Amino acid sequence: MQAVIDHTRVSIVQGDITEQSADAIVNAANPGLMGGGGVDGAIHRAGGPAILEQCKQIISSQGPLPPGKAAASTGGRLKATYVIHTVGPIWHGGVRNESRILASAYRECLKVAADMKLTSVAFPSISTGAYGYPLVEASRIAISSVCSFLRGRASTINRVVFVLFDSKTHQSYCSALQQVIETAD
Ligand code: ADP
Repeated sequence: MQAVIDHTRVSIVQGDITEQSADAIVNAANPGLMGGGGVDGAIHRAGGPAILEQCKQIISSQGPLPPGKAAASTGGRLKATYVIHTVGPIWHGGVRNESRILASAYRECLKVAADMKLTSVAFPSISTGAYGYPLVEASRIAISSVCSFLRGRASTINRVVFVLFDSKTHQSYCSALQQVIETAD
C-alpha cells in the first residue's frame, strides 16, 4: 500500500530489504556496528566487507553509535548506494524512553539522508526482532515519526519504503499507515 505525504511517496511492501534499489537502505544495527543477526547480518552478507570497513572507521572516529542516532556507510555490493545504520531501543517494558528513542532512530536516518541529498530511503522494522519492541506500537511510531518528519520540512526525499520481512509485520505497518491517512482526512 502507499500514500503521498507532502510530495513524498510512502509505501509499504513485504520483502527482503537487501534487494532494494533505493539510494539508501537503513540497517537496524547495534552500537558497535560490527554486524550481527537479523537484518544487520543480512545487510553485511549481501553488501560485503566494504560496509564493515567503513563501520570500523565510524566507530574509531566517533565511538559506539548511541540508540536513536544514525550514521551512513557505503552500500558495498548492494543495489542501494548507501547503508544508513541506526540503533533502535531494546524493549524493557516501555519504562526506559523506548518510544522516544525509536522515533528518534527513524528521524535521524531521514536527517542523514536529507543532508546527503538522497531521494529514496528504505526502512526495515527497527527494534521489533531481537530487540523485542511490541510490533503494533513500534509500527505506529515508525509511521508517525516518518510522516511528521516529511510534513515538517522540504527535503530531497521523494520516496520512503518500509520493507517488511513477514506478513504479520507487513500487516501491522499497513494498518498504521491507514490510520495516519484517515486521521489526516
Ligand atoms: P532489532 O535488533 O532492531 O530488533 P532485527 O534484525 O532482529 O532487529 O529485526 C528487525 C526486523 O527486521 C524484524 O521484523 C525482522 O524480521 C526483519 N528482518 C530480518 N531480515 C530482514 C531482511 N533481509 N529484510 C527486511 N527485514 C528483515
